[in-house]
Amino acid sequence: MQYYSLRRQAPAVDFRTAALTGQAPDGGLYFPDNIPRFGPDFLRDLPGLDRADLALAVMRPYVGGTIPDGALRAICAAAVDFPFPLVPVSAGIAALELFHGPTLAFKDVGARFMSRCLGYFAARGDAPPVTVLVATSGDTGGAVASGFLGVPGVEVVILYPRGKVSPVQELQLTTLGQNITALEVSGTFDDCQALVKQAFRDPALAARRFLTSANSINVARWLPQQLYYCFAAQQWPAAAPPVVSVPSGNFGNLGAGLLARASGLPLGPFIAACNANDPVARYLQSGAYAPRPAVATHSNAMDVGDPSNFVRILELFGHDFDALQAALSAATVSDPDTVATVLQVWMENGYLLDPHAAVAYAALLRYQAGHPDAAGFLLATAHPVKFPDVLEPLIGQPIERPEAVQRLQGRAKQSIPLPAEFAALKEFLLR
Ligand SMILES: *Cc1c(COP(=O)(O)O)cnc(C)c1O
Repeated sequence: MQYYSLRRQAPAVDFRTAALTGQAPDGGLYFPDNIPRFGPDFLRDLPGLDRADLALAVMRPYVGGTIPDGALRAICAAAVDFPFPLVPVSAGIAALELFHGPTLAFKDVGARFMSRCLGYFAARGDAPPVTVLVATSGDTGGAVASGFLGVPGVEVVILYPRGKVSPVQELQLTTLGQNITALEVSGTFDDCQALVKQAFRDPALAARRFLTSANSINVARWLPQQLYYCFAAQQWPAAAPPVVSVPSGNFGNLGAGLLARASGLPLGPFIAACNANDPVARYLQSGAYAPRPAVATHSNAMDVGDPSNFVRILELFGHDFDALQAALSAATVSDPDTVATVLQVWMENGYLLDPHAAVAYAALLRYQAGHPDAAGFLLATAHPVKFPDVLEPLIGQPIERPEAVQRLQGRAKQSIPLPAEFAALKEFLLR
């Protein structure tokens, strides 16, 4: 398997190079040069497959021999060593719970897979000391920090928007220490992402440090997200393929789901569930893509005004707007609708959605209003306990704190304040 740059001004590379460099030298995102097909045996055996074996089967063609099967199976096993239950919530709607990992959000799988791949390359002397530079709107930072903690040969620098992540999220990315540094940026997530992108283009930085990204622009983080959809297909009880509602920000998760579907996984149409930051939803209606600065919402990990991974989705559909529209619809869900959805599902079904899952639930409900026979699932991307400020006043009781959160309470936050200016980031990285 080779990966080409979506800007097509750089040479194709193997998985190892794509994972180590993150982005192509021309600034493009890497994309696989062929989409593997799941064979009939794989699909027949799917329900009974062990999670690690399933992950190995899905990831092996993408890794393309740069990691031998034995090591790759161990990496896969570690990346998916917690449950991914598909939980019925209401008539025709289930929630695929992706928040049982160490940082209680779905990004754990990609971060754990990628960190172990880089660890493998570094341990073999195949990689120079690496600085992972990552912008986070909330959950990426914690997942990357946890995934990379203590990995030799890797330093992690996380940029997050000051005051725009929840207290639990902030503790997850500022309290680990060791090889992890958190930069608290006076700006939005889009500012953080722009700073990171500029750093990758800076020749003076490239001369001094081997920089790579752990955002979903990195194929080693993006591709394993296909596994969620496989775990859902394993558990889906009906014969008709499910409609899939994905709470979307940077569109990595949704793109990975569509990739798995293109490989033959039996999934119905997808819904891009967006908050007020909805350039993709507007594109699907009008055919015109107009990014806008991000605005803050209750579902903060989706506050992205110009999603990086959307180009991958366009590529997957060969830039054929009609084909894309046939597979993907979208909904924009406001903060008041998000809150009303949380409350309704809590009262009627006794199930607590986090604000991101609530956006996806509301989007799926709207879809069902037009397609009464459609059953499906939403991706519950984060544990509700990460959003007590929104949820606890609604339900009038404290959310039970899982052990992973209890361990964080009382730890001291360590972060370095940074203005949203490239010169400041550069000075820090050249220190
Ligand atoms: C990151 C995140 C999202 C958005 O995922 P993308 O792949 O960026 O679209 C949704 N929900 C939660 C809880 C997240 O952390």
